[in-house]
Amino acid sequence: MQEVILNEKKYTIKNGHCSSIEKVLVIEDSSMLLESIKNSIHAELQMECDIASNEQEAMELLKRNSYDLVIADIYLPDSSGNFIGYLVRKKHRIIIITASDNEEKRTKIASLPIVDYLYKTDERTILNYLMNSIRRLQKNEKSTVMICDDSQLSRLQVRQLIVQQNLPYIEVKDGQEAYDYVIKDKLKINLLMTDVNMPKMDGVNLIRHIRHHHTNNELPVLAFSSAGKASMVAQLLKTGANDYISKPINNEEFLTRLNISLDQSRLHAENQQLIQNLKMMSETDFLTKLYNRSYFYRAIKLIQTQSKRHKQAYGVLMLDIDHFKIINDTHGHEAGDMALISLSKTLLETARESDIICRWGGEEFLILIPNTNADELSGFAQRIRTTIESSPIKHENSFNLTVSIGISISTDNNVDDVDNVIFNADNKLYKAKNSGRNCVVF
Ligand code: GH3
Ligand code: MG
Ligand code: MG
Repeated sequence: MQEVILNEKKYTIKNGHCSSIEKVLVIEDSSMLLESIKNSIHAELQMECDIASNEQEAMELLKRNSYDLVIADIYLPDSSGNFIGYLVRKKHRIIIITASDNEEKRTKIASLPIVDYLYKTDERTILNYLMNSIRRLQKNEKSTVMICDDSQLSRLQVRQLIVQQNLPYIEVKDGQEAYDYVIKDKLKINLLMTDVNMPKMDGVNLIRHIRHHHTNNELPVLAFSSAGKASMVAQLLKTGANDYISKPINNEEFLTRLNISLDQSRLHAENQQLIQNLKMMSETDFLTKLYNRSYFYRAIKLIQTQSKRHKQAYGVLMLDIDHFKIINDTHGHEAGDMALISLSKTLLETARESDIICRWGGEEFLILIPNTNADELSGFAQRIRTTIESSPIKHENSFNLTVSIGISISTDNNVDDVDNVIFNADNKLYKAKNSGRNCVVF
């Protein structure tokens, strides 16, 4: 059980049935398929995998080891007829492989408390399906789903299916309760399964409210109902349900639809993360984590607009480390890198939150200061210069840095000309270098 405290309320997420999936046992009499599954589990999932080609071997392994998942062919050469029953009784997490497409047997298998079952088709299809299933089981442990239904019986059925999928869950009895948890208290869930007809708040209204806050990709919703009129299904989907399942719930259909929704929202989350990483990489410098030159040209546009509208000036400080080549030569390149990182930290600590600090080149930095004036800029530049001068770089042999700074300020009537402002700051920096370094030139 995991307890979450939000707004002084305590939420209990049931996860006692979950575990990380690390070790798999595969039982299959076709040695070719057995080897392929084992190889894929090793290569694609980097997981431990034991194999058995008959019941006797499997029993031996099960006695000696514990497995997080058992993948078992239903027909083995030494089949006793109750092996799967044995696995179920021992509460193993099971995926069944079957060659039979007999409808009656299929229904029987589907009614067992197992993760899933699949047909023996071609090898590639089996491997794809199995690897996806294992990956999903691994990820499921870290997701939370909500079951929202006023019928106790139907909650029980859904809960039993969810438990097999290694999914933590939280159960509520009405749409109003789900609304309070998810919208009011911002309880983080990864998927909502909701009934449609409920006494206080029905499924359509619940979905309507949820979609004001979360998109279909962020929080998928599966709706189920026994009154499955086509117009009602259409209304649910239009309101924002990702999918619909009619009651009484067919276990296999339910699980397949649940998996599709979970996979989709995970793919979305992974893409969002990738986009965020790419954005970060495109805007920042790898060594110092300061903004880079390309970010500066994006940021300056907004600052120019604001400066123009409010008739304010913005300033640019161009800063360059003095004799950095000598520092590298004396203390080594690594010490030089450390000096760059340490100086960046000093700049961040000295600047205001609204200032934009960029690594302009190797040991050259640009600071963009919005809404400022000449006095403020001079004071700021001197403060930076003295702080850096008096902050030793801690290395095998500590050493000190000094910097030269050139300052330039935009004029009210010419705020658009950023290249000019930078050019001027650069010029002043050149002058600072020529006047003996460790100084500021305006
Ligand atoms: P000045 O006072 O005139 O600026 O002299 P300087 O030695 O600082 O300037 P110069 O342009 O001659 O040399 C800059 C040095 O900065 C050379 C280069 O190897 C070093 N440098 C540039 N980027 C990095 C970096 O990322 N890490 C390290 N360690 N050194 C760098
Ligand atoms: Mg330099
Ligand atoms: Mg230089």
